[in-house]
Amino acid sequence: MLETKAKETMKQGSVFGQITEMEHEQLVVCHDKATGLKALVGIHNTTLGPALGGTRMWPYATEEEAITDVLRLSRGMTFKNALAGLNLGGGKAVIIGDPKMKNEAFLRRFGRFIEGLSGRYVTAEDVNMSTADMEYIAMETKHVTGLPETRGGGGDPSPVTAYGTYIGMKAAAKKAFGSDSLEGKTIAVQGVGQVGRFLIDYLVKEKADILISDIFEDKLKKVAAETGATIVDPNLIYEVEMDIYAPCALGATLNDDTIDKLKCQVIAGAANNQLKDEEKHGLELQNRGIIYAPDFLINAGGVINVGAEYLGGHDKETVYRQTEKIYDTCLEIFEKSEREQISAQLAAIKVAKERIEAIGRVKLSF
Ligand code: NAD
Repeated sequence: MLETKAKETMKQGSVFGQITEMEHEQLVVCHDKATGLKALVGIHNTTLGPALGGTRMWPYATEEEAITDVLRLSRGMTFKNALAGLNLGGGKAVIIGDPKMKNEAFLRRFGRFIEGLSGRYVTAEDVNMSTADMEYIAMETKHVTGLPETRGGGGDPSPVTAYGTYIGMKAAAKKAFGSDSLEGKTIAVQGVGQVGRFLIDYLVKEKADILISDIFEDKLKKVAAETGATIVDPNLIYEVEMDIYAPCALGATLNDDTIDKLKCQVIAGAANNQLKDEEKHGLELQNRGIIYAPDFLINAGGVINVGAEYLGGHDKETVYRQTEKIYDTCLEIFEKSEREQISAQLAAIKVAKERIEAIGRVKLSF
């Protein structure tokens, strides 16, 4: 609903309309003629601390599309970071263009723009941005995280994201089935990329029946051979008999076309922005009795990892221990959703906003 409203506002050509609707603090437009860099930084909320969120590089068809994306993603980061218990606000950057444009000068110029924000925004990797890219950015700014382990960074965040997703899935199973064991449960994992692949390892250990889909057949065959998972046609993934659907590929897969087809009792996956319309589709899942583990809650392992790196004192054990808290937060959210008769998505946003408000008040006191 919120996004629909924001899109309508966008159509009317109002960037301020959109940021007012979504409650952003700042939208920064960056341009460099020499390198061809065109980037947007969305700073949604800095009450808890510097706005942390990755940079996505994408050949957006229109500027409007890029603005909408950076605004939606940065808002999501505010809730993700707040729920994960981090002292970090929410932000995100998008670079408009073909990832082939990236080179040292391009990335360092982007780094200088970030340095110019004086720490209000901290970047990290996202789609089409790697730990190696972060190294170039780090040559121009301190406000970057997600560096390779060889450079003293926390390394690839995907294994931690997968762990949090697995923990969140177990909490959702506990709510739906009365036990958090995944043994014998049929679980469909959509997308066997970085996160999906690590998630499958946990599911194998739990002796789940695993179904997998991806758009790359070779990848699928390799994962099936390694894990014993069964391959499903990407177009049929929504309608197969399953207990748990784990979206680990794209956003917006929970929509008017798919929800009717889903036969699962639980949805728990890593993909960002799974609900096409967070109010409408969140409510539809609730009305159907499907336990939905909000994506920004259970895929927070990665940001917990990069957040620890930025704030200092990164060590794997602490990061995994903090990620494990996702289990209890999920149960708290499911309970709130039931008690207040609101979707799990809205319950999670409410809890995140409550933390931001409470800590905001603390910060005002001496
Ligand atoms: P990835 O690119 O490594 O993997 C995504 C996989 O999905 C790829 O194998 C791709 O081929 C597949 N895919 C694309 N379209 C598909 C379709 N229509 N049907 C089936 N499969 C399809 O990405 P990732 O790092 O594994 O991230 C997966 C999701 O989790 C993304 O939405 C990402 O934004 C989100 N996420 C990732 C992290 C992280 O730490 N990597 C953290 C938070 C959220």
